[in-house]
Amino acid sequence: MSSEPARPEPVRRHHDHGMWLVQFTARILVVCPRCGGRAVVVPLPGLAAPKYFSALLFLPRRLSCAGCGAVADWTADERGAGLVGAAPGGTEDPFFRRPLWLQTRCAGRTLWAYDADHVEALAAYVGARLRERHASPTMSMFSRLPAWMKSADRRDDMLAGLETLRALSLHSRPADRSDAAHERGDHPRHHDSILFRGGAY
Ligand SMILES: [Zn+2]
Repeated sequence: MSSEPARPEPVRRHHDHGMWLVQFTARILVVCPRCGGRAVVVPLPGLAAPKYFSALLFLPRRLSCAGCGAVADWTADERGAGLVGAAPGGTEDPFFRRPLWLQTRCAGRTLWAYDADHVEALAAYVGARLRERHASPTMSMFSRLPAWMKSADRRDDMLAGLETLRALSLHSRPADRSDAAHERGDHPRHHDSILFRGGAY
């Protein structure tokens, strides 16, 4: 039992300006296919920064592991006149379909994030007492989070889980891998996004 007197807590506000999950795909920590340590998936080095975040799902990607030297490349499939982009969501990276490095069990579910910035964005949202939306909910990552993650009853569980993910993001050895970070095949089933070359989107 705590003997600390209750102190009024400052009201923490969260402002949703329409962050998309795709924005966090710029850098994804995954389980290395060769050594089981932490590898990173980024757009192929040397490419110009994309004009739109959605282009992140079509840019060629490279997976690399500083621990064992593994390297793999990914390019979008071609279908007719278009490129088939990756579909973010679930506990695998959308390009190589490797298990995410940042996964932990939380409130009977699996809590996951792409990298430390993603963890911080989720922590700011979950920790806020007041949530204000300034953008369309259609694509907003926050408005599309599952209900269990947004529930006030789960706030402490979520913050503890995010703290675990924060700690995992600082480690990279195979022995540091989370028990939750294994293949599940739970990638999204919704139809692929297609970028038509030369067309406006
Ligand atoms: Zn490796």
